[in-house]
Amino acid sequence: MELNLSSGKALRLLLGDITKIRVDAIVNAANSQLQGGGGVDGAIHRAGGPSLMRELDQIRKESGDCPTGSAAVTTAGALPAQFVFHAVGPIYQDGQQGEPDQLRGCYRTCLALAEERGVRMLSFPAISTGAYGYPLAEAASIALETVAQHLRAADTGVREVLFVLWDQGTLDIHAKALSRLAGKLE
Ligand code: ADP
Repeated sequence: MELNLSSGKALRLLLGDITKIRVDAIVNAANSQLQGGGGVDGAIHRAGGPSLMRELDQIRKESGDCPTGSAAVTTAGALPAQFVFHAVGPIYQDGQQGEPDQLRGCYRTCLALAEERGVRMLSFPAISTGAYGYPLAEAASIALETVAQHLRAADTGVREVLFVLWDQGTLDIHAKALSRLAGKLE
């Protein structure tokens, strides 16, 4: 499913493994210690190889932890991309602790990094919706709205954003959120 925006820009939903799809930059759902974990982070480090963690070790040494809403950039090792943006999403508590703004901020950080680095094609997983417990429907509408808002701006270098979703249920929830968003944008 996809949302086509002005001047050939598009937002697409795909089912699958984010480590398999060729883009310019892959977003990882990391933790603030940049220390590697399970879920999509584990998959990205396994597929990318040890150079990613070596670069993150160096970043941690120089700058310390990566706060919620920010992201660390590494090269992509053996992944089919140039960069990985290791973004730190919020841990969901009850939705009243600023989680929506933090999640929105996390997507904005990655979009800004993509613009800085000349990225045309960018892929995201559903940040914070696994171990970090963010309710899927709410996270999906925040993610899609934030990206669509960015792509609708006149002068973005980013042309295409893929949401690569791991299972059918997650894809279905994003598809629903995307049709609602398309309705709103008409
Ligand atoms: P977080 O800690 O931010 O919640 P997780 O990795 O636990 O991050 O989960 C984020 C999302 O990534 C979940 O929807 C999970 O199902 C999904 N996921 C896990 N592995 C992959 C993968 N290889 N490609 C894309 N998405 C994945």
